[in-house]
Amino acid sequence: MSTQNDPIRSIAIVGGGTAGWITAATLARFLPNLKGRIRLIESVEIGTIGVGEATIPPIVEFIRMLGVDENDVVRKTQATFKLGIEFKNWTRSGHSYIHPFGPTGFAKENVPFFPYWLRCWQGGKAAPLETYSLQAVAARRCKFMRPVPTSHSPLATITYALHLDASLFAAYLRTYAEARGVVRTEGKVRNVTSRSADGFIESITLESGERIEADFYIDCTGFRGLLIEGALKTGYEDWTRWLPCDRAVAVQCERTGPLASHTIATARNVGWQWRIPLQHRVGNGYVYCSQFLSDQAAQDVLASSLEGTALRDPLQLKFTTGRRRLFWNKNCLAVGLAAGFLEPLESTGIHLIQHGVLNLLRFLPDRNFRQADIDRYNSYFSFQYERMRDFLLLHYHRTEREEDFWRHCRHIELPDSLRERLELFLGYGRILRDENELFTVQSWFHVLIGQNVLPAGYDPLADTLGYEQAQAALVEAQSAVTRCAARIPPHEAFIAQHCAAPVPESVPVR
Ligand SMILES: Cc1cc2nc3c(=O)[nH]c(=O)nc-3n(C[C@H](O)[C@H](O)[C@H](O)COP(=O)(O)OP(=O)(O)OC[C@H]3O[C@@H](n4cnc5c(N)ncnc54)[C@H](O)[C@@H]3O)c2cc1C
Repeated sequence: MSTQNDPIRSIAIVGGGTAGWITAATLARFLPNLKGRIRLIESVEIGTIGVGEATIPPIVEFIRMLGVDENDVVRKTQATFKLGIEFKNWTRSGHSYIHPFGPTGFAKENVPFFPYWLRCWQGGKAAPLETYSLQAVAARRCKFMRPVPTSHSPLATITYALHLDASLFAAYLRTYAEARGVVRTEGKVRNVTSRSADGFIESITLESGERIEADFYIDCTGFRGLLIEGALKTGYEDWTRWLPCDRAVAVQCERTGPLASHTIATARNVGWQWRIPLQHRVGNGYVYCSQFLSDQAAQDVLASSLEGTALRDPLQLKFTTGRRRLFWNKNCLAVGLAAGFLEPLESTGIHLIQHGVLNLLRFLPDRNFRQADIDRYNSYFSFQYERMRDFLLLHYHRTEREEDFWRHCRHIELPDSLRERLELFLGYGRILRDENELFTVQSWFHVLIGQNVLPAGYDPLADTLGYEQAQAALVEAQSAVTRCAARIPPHEAFIAQHCAAPVPESVPVR
């Protein structure tokens, strides 16, 4: 029996970047009834954006959900493992902190870790926060292994993501999706036609003259937003006033030195630089604000800070941070860069794609396109984008750096949601997180403390533990982390044992 009165009979995905192929693979996996009726149209001539290589832990769940072997994905995408992000020079020059994945410390007598750590920290009796996180300690030592679920120690909860080659990942997903009946069409969309009665998209026409009709369209055309904006004129909320960087220059280089198990984000005079280690190369990029720095100057900074020989010419990118006013408009859903762009500081791009498609499945429409489903999807995603925006803005806003760009960031007028959160934290170190928010309390806590946002007091909840008991709990937590870290192999050795990719002949690895 069908649960829907008039089910969707066909879907057209326009665009074959990471967004297009994640969408195609997910729909192929969960909508077998549409086998042969999910089409993906992409233009090799236009190409893909060619960046987007650091992920966050939900990628691991996503790979599991597709039912493929994680080691196979790692091998075929030249991937490495990621335990968090190191922020260098953000608070001030020479400063560094890690935003690790996974839990930090442990609750004692039902008192969560952060309140009692803060109490002892304020009394000068706690070590730096990251020494209580196994992920952070392992990342500092370029180590990695997967969790050991049977262990009664922090080894049980090792939490990780991947760094992967974006084009190889798209190719992997393409093979997966095509094997499950997704039909790929190579061609450039020339024209999009809408129905006069209700403005719904009726068809797309390729430059070859081929006309493609579908019940539902997924716009994965990147910043162009060919359907959601070009055809439907949905509108874009510009967030430059909060996230002012609007340019990036990216370049790949040879890998040197030990294989890091974390992303590095180094603050520069006008923005920040990423370092993403893959098995065969390192991805680097400088995200900056054109109001304060020329493209040439950014390229020069990036070129002068590469650790190995550049493997390609630099790729110059322009963007406007923000989001589409509606992610889903009529019979068109925007996914990936077509939906919006929060800059890559916390590697949220690929996650937003996965999350977008999985939520489409939650609200899967029939051909009547119930407005209630569309509205709920849009309000949920607006919420997600706004909370992620706040988290990113926090990094820029709370800095002691004195360059013009950073002074500008310090004086940005904060959205109410972030201002309230900061005020709450500055009192007693409290973080209230809404259900479904992506970033956890531990993420907020690590970044707030890392950016030197120090509360005046601590949560009285911490007094439930005696001071000496709290100190003893910290010692216990830290020594557990130290013991466990000693058992974790070097990242490079773990990969060599489980999932080494063949070394491409053209890419020397030293
Ligand atoms: C500087 C920067 C760094 C980033 N770093 C990260 C990161 O570390 N981690 C992360 O998760 N995300 C990151 N992102 C985001 C990530 O790159 C994107 O989310 C991801 O690549 C998805 O892009 P996309 O598929 O939406 O767009 P694109 O890759 O641009 O793909 C668009 C597709 O649409 C097709 N197309 C366009 N017009 C037409 C047409 N007329 N006819 C037919 N086809 C068409 C193109 O051929 C292409 O296949 C970063 C983004 C930027 C800008």
